[in-house]
Amino acid sequence: MKKVEKTYADNIFVKDSAIHGKGIFTSAFIPKGEIIMVIEGEMILEDECIRREEEEDNVYIFWNGDTYIDTKDTDKIKYINHSCDYSCSVLERDEKSLYLAAQRDLNIGEELTIDYGYEEIYDLCNCNICRPTN
Ligand SMILES: [Zn+2]
Repeated sequence: MKKVEKTYADNIFVKDSAIHGKGIFTSAFIPKGEIIMVIEGEMILEDECIRREEEEDNVYIFWNGDTYIDTKDTDKIKYINHSCDYSCSVLERDEKSLYLAAQRDLNIGEELTIDYGYEEIYDLCNCNICRPTN
């Protein structure tokens, strides 16, 4: 029997984002520390990850320490945007997946963000930390 995990996946929806393109948002209040959803996708090897990033501009690949997880064909998690003032964190789950968890309390209608954590993102980022308006 598969254990059923309580998540907020049904409360997560996609709409236009003020940060970039589309983003994912919550229709429910989510307390700090709660698991929001499971991050799953196509499992690929490092060489294929590099190829997809370089040749296909695929920016939807997560790494869980074991495996590269391509979320390009998902309907929600692929749209999560970067923020240096991120509201969510990515946690270990198993070799095929990760958890998205609430880094702080999330209010109804709020956009969910994570720290993408790779160097180039900070050059592209438009947040108040990266682009202070003086
Ligand atoms: Zn930033």
